[in-house]
Amino acid sequence: MPAAHAELNLTALEHNLQRLRCCAPGAKIMAVVKANAYGHGLVRIAESLPTVDAFAVARVEEGVRLRKAGIAQRIAVLQGFIRNDELELHARFDLEPVIHSELQVELLESATINPGLRVWAKMDTGMHRLGLDPAEFRECYARLGICPSVRKPIPIMTHLANADVLTDVVTEKQLDLFHGLVLRDPCERSIANSAGLLAWEAARTEWVRPGIALYGVSPFPDRTALEDGLRPIMTLKTHIIAIKSLKRGDAVGYGGAWICPHPTRMGIAAIGYGDGYPRHAQSGTPVLVNGRRVPLIGRVSMDMISVDLTECSEATVGDAVTLWGEGLPVEEIARHASTIPYVLLCNVTQRVRMIERR
Ligand SMILES: *Cc1c(COP(=O)(O)O)cnc(C)c1O
Repeated sequence: MPAAHAELNLTALEHNLQRLRCCAPGAKIMAVVKANAYGHGLVRIAESLPTVDAFAVARVEEGVRLRKAGIAQRIAVLQGFIRNDELELHARFDLEPVIHSELQVELLESATINPGLRVWAKMDTGMHRLGLDPAEFRECYARLGICPSVRKPIPIMTHLANADVLTDVVTEKQLDLFHGLVLRDPCERSIANSAGLLAWEAARTEWVRPGIALYGVSPFPDRTALEDGLRPIMTLKTHIIAIKSLKRGDAVGYGGAWICPHPTRMGIAAIGYGDGYPRHAQSGTPVLVNGRRVPLIGRVSMDMISVDLTECSEATVGDAVTLWGEGLPVEEIARHASTIPYVLLCNVTQRVRMIERR
């Protein structure tokens, strides 16, 4: 077993999918697998979700990778295309671009794609990132509707900016605007990310687009997976490679950023920012050694961290260390590192061996 590795609990993935299905019974699921499936492995996760109706990726290359790996479900490309060669890739690999700008409508109008390409029309209801403004949406949607290179009917989507804030009026405004504008269209609708799906009734439409929740992480800032009925997929692990006894006043690590306040039994664990453990994790960030919580001390280095084993006298070289996952919520580690769980998961590096478990 390599020192730094990530166990991937694919049974938990199945559980999370079931949990999310219960939130919106009958809705079709578009599993979001962008950014290497939030660090879990694009193809591995797609292959482990044989019952979802579609996948969503951010970029066309990610969709091509899925097709080349033999994935047969529908694949939406959230950023779509900005050039003809990218549009051709969509057609060649049966990828469904999200149409969010008039430029894309023009490229479709000047293309000849036979049979017509499936596309998703995206309306910007207030996130102000990608999407057609409500004022231009009607015209563009009508143009797509008569474009020979586009398959009908065309589903309509939008994205919520603040769905993770349970009382936010912005979400209500976005939902009202969306439902008001698409009321007359006999088409499928897609609104909800994980937070929308878990928390916003009016966001549960024909299609839902969960990402982070599938990986067993709460989308809400002050909650953990357990409270949302989710189970973490990834458990990041390593082991202790050295133990030292330090005196009161000894400085630990780069910059001597930790000064031992008392005689300290210190352990060195083989994981660092070169593996994706966050360099900004503060002293005091919890780490599990043999299943017991101990505090991180001093700065995170590229390949190692230091932990205080004073209260863990039985710990020895070779003992198991968990950085996040089962038994230690990644949400909690993110707070200690002033970041969000999405970032921690996406940042796990190539050096970390992924080990699948069922
Ligand atoms: C990333 C993304 C999602 C999934 O968001 P989560 O918060 O991970 O559930 C859904 N829709 C769009 C457009 C996205 O970019």
